[in-house]
Amino acid sequence: MSEPLIRVAGVTVRYGAVTALRDVSIEVNPGEIVAVLGPNGAGKSTLMRTIAGVHKPTAGQVHLAGAPVESGSPERVARRGLRLVPEGRQIFGPMTVEENLRMGSPDSGAALHDQLDRAYERFPILGERRRQAAGTLSGGEQQMLAIARALMAAPRVILYDEPSLGLAPRIVDQIFELIVGLRDEGVTSVVVEQNARRALAMSDRAYLLAAGSVKASGRSAEMAESDIAGHYFGTQR
Ligand code: ATP
Repeated sequence: MSEPLIRVAGVTVRYGAVTALRDVSIEVNPGEIVAVLGPNGAGKSTLMRTIAGVHKPTAGQVHLAGAPVESGSPERVARRGLRLVPEGRQIFGPMTVEENLRMGSPDSGAALHDQLDRAYERFPILGERRRQAAGTLSGGEQQMLAIARALMAAPRVILYDEPSLGLAPRIVDQIFELIVGLRDEGVTSVVVEQNARRALAMSDRAYLLAAGSVKASGRSAEMAESDIAGHYFGTQR
């Protein structure tokens, strides 16, 4: 068995008196799409930010490709090939589409221009709007911009925190198709979703988080069949 790309082992994260994650262990193998499901407040965003090196675990470890992730240094984790597409996208609205994309790249000069060309090839709409303020884009276009920005540095793994939030079902389908297409190009993905049904349909494996702990995990197809997510969510949406 090859080394997992991401290994979260026994991670606990506390914010003062609040325990957001309690002894959480997950693994992500190269080339997988792994869904992290769970209701509001389950700890999903905290888990993504901890993997990305933003939060320091109170206990436990995070490894990326076999080496420990250093907390407090998300830039260093990004240089090791991991990108987080945060909840709410965090696009810089007053800046142009192109300025937002440039911020995703560690390069300048010819390398940067190649990356921009590739981004506009993949997302023609961003090319058309390259000089437009990013805040004027639709929600779906902003999500594409956030993903395009993450792709600028050719990451090997992308963490998506609720990429479907606030988007119409047709746009969600496009975003999920994009994530599946990236897997075929060798990009590993972790996708946080409240929409269990859709996330299970597009992922290989899934973990279900509730109240800071992993309650269930397995192959997505089997989890969809068992309706385990429905048990924790009330209904599967
Ligand atoms: P959501 O879907 O609402 O984003 P989530 O599953 O991503 O939820 P988190 O945002 O990780 O959950 O939050 C987990 C718990 O930690 C919640 O109880 C939340 O109130 C708490 N929490 C999150 N961030 C902080 C913070 N900066 N300070 C204190 N408590 C926090």
